[in-house]
Amino acid sequence: MYDWYAYRCIIKRVINLEITVSDLYAFKSCPLQFKLTKIDKLNKKMREEDGLHAAIMSTISYFYYKLQDGILLSMDEIKEKFANIWYGKTNLYDIMHNGNRDKREKELQAIGMLHQFYRQQKHKPDKVIAVNLDFRVPFGPDFSVKGHIPLIRETPRGMEIVNFKTGNHKYNEFWQRTDMDITLQAMAFESIFKKQVDSICIHHLRSGQSFFVERKKKDYQRLYKSITMMKKTIEQGWFYPRESYLCDKCPVQQLCMEWR
Ligand code: SF4
Repeated sequence: MYDWYAYRCIIKRVINLEITVSDLYAFKSCPLQFKLTKIDKLNKKMREEDGLHAAIMSTISYFYYKLQDGILLSMDEIKEKFANIWYGKTNLYDIMHNGNRDKREKELQAIGMLHQFYRQQKHKPDKVIAVNLDFRVPFGPDFSVKGHIPLIRETPRGMEIVNFKTGNHKYNEFWQRTDMDITLQAMAFESIFKKQVDSICIHHLRSGQSFFVERKKKDYQRLYKSITMMKKTIEQGWFYPRESYLCDKCPVQQLCMEWR
């Protein structure tokens, strides 16, 4: 009886609340990790890779907020902002670092990416329309996904959504076409601006290269189906372990071993 009640409480909390885009990815990569970290909140620390991405993105957002106010930051100011976030002076993120050496290596990687970014902005800065524009996309009356569009800028291609990637993995055709976050952002843009977005740019900070992707109604249908199935899985309480190479860096690995 008690287990049933506890289970219903968990489901009610998840189903009646909004989930974030990062919850969506967490669930897709491992339902048990999603339950332990996002529902039970047994670990609040971020993996170092996620922390690096978050710290770089916060620095870039800061750059764009200033740019929107007519201020072009210097590279030194950008580096200082990043260091304050990375070394915890801003209390923005609780990052699970893998030792000081790794922390320094990642910092150097970040500075390399920020240098690359700054070189492209220094002489021809973007025309900013919006930074970190919040959205909430409903999927039925009791389930919605919230997120934000990192940047919307004015370009010769029209209004453009921009996303920045910091990872090593190739953003190949499969990811370009199926990235759920991009699909959600396109849906949100359409709902906010009452028109389809003119262009979507994915910018790789490591290489400095940009890719352009599209989203059509059929992409929205794929996402809708995927999220509807995910909702059903949560309703059934199917939080199963999904072992993969990602387990090596899972923050709840010890708890997972006890799962029966
Ligand atoms: S260790 Fe692996 S299977 Fe277990 S919760 Fe973490 S990611 Fe999932």
